[in-house]
Amino acid sequence: MQALRYYRQKDFRLENIDEPTPKANEAKIKVKWCGICGSDVQEYLSGPKMVPTKPHPQTGMSAPVTGGHEFSGEITEIGDNISSFSPGDRVVVRPTMPCYQCHYCRQGRFIQCQVLATLGGAAHGAFADFTVARDDCLYKLPDNVSFEQATYAEPLACAVRAVQRSGMQAGATVVVIGAGPIGLLTLQTALACGASKVYVFETVEIRRKLAEELGATASFDPREGSPGKLIANLTSGRRAEIVFECAGTASALLLADSLSGRGSTILQMGVPNEPVEFPFYNLFMREKTIIASQGYVNDQFKTALDFIDNSKISCDPIMTSSKISLNDIIEKGFEQLTGSNSHSHCKILVTPQG
Ligand SMILES: [Zn+2]
Ligand SMILES: [Zn+2]
Repeated sequence: MQALRYYRQKDFRLENIDEPTPKANEAKIKVKWCGICGSDVQEYLSGPKMVPTKPHPQTGMSAPVTGGHEFSGEITEIGDNISSFSPGDRVVVRPTMPCYQCHYCRQGRFIQCQVLATLGGAAHGAFADFTVARDDCLYKLPDNVSFEQATYAEPLACAVRAVQRSGMQAGATVVVIGAGPIGLLTLQTALACGASKVYVFETVEIRRKLAEELGATASFDPREGSPGKLIANLTSGRRAEIVFECAGTASALLLADSLSGRGSTILQMGVPNEPVEFPFYNLFMREKTIIASQGYVNDQFKTALDFIDNSKISCDPIMTSSKISLNDIIEKGFEQLTGSNSHSHCKILVTPQG
């Protein structure tokens, strides 16, 4: 079968490898769709990050590893000891594999697992015709959720966790910085959880339009005028109670400071690659809190799937970006997302069939 293997930075290879065989408690899955995540792009541009360079303590794997972690498919074979799934089941896969034994796992803090492995990182993922996954990672797809929509459960789970960690109350005034896939899903999650107003700051016009289509109260280009004064005018001087920083740049974090008010909370969801200078004096004087939010735990993945199932979240406008074949994943996937017109893409979905 074909698989996209992550060797190192700028060295991802589409290769022919043997189909995997499920071990006990594992299912073999025929991959239908798999999204390209910002973390895959980071791995391509400046890896290795997710892919271990020496044997991973849980899986024993190291580069090259098959990438791809936002995926859905159909079970074709099951290993021993699996009773709740059978061949033919449509599933979405939670790519995180907690050990369930360490100090953090025993407290349910699975994303902080000391030996956490992820399919498409420290285990083979789904940019391939087939993959295998542990049964605790499998979730049956409700009939009305398509394979394409299901690929959004993974990034959406990150938004669910961030909103939960923010302690957001119904009626809150919220800002989302960055309207890429994570920002757009966070916007919708905040609305679904009762935010009364969500203002979006984004430099790319088509993404601002998308944000408004998906329910943003208003969207702005942060390079125009004075964003801090703008938000103050819209909120009787109080500014935002919660700011979700989904861009991952130094300027976005400074923007988060100017948009947030007294006693506010800033959720760091973007991934800054460099150390950032930040005015902690403002944080102190206004008693602001910064909370990092990374990934999700098992219940949050299930909540994300439920949100898609009961249409709390619309994935379709985000999905219009592009759908490509695994054969074209380098040229029409990674090169597009790292090239000069990368902002014209939102989410790219990949299928091995076609
Ligand atoms: Zn992802
Ligand atoms: Zn653990």
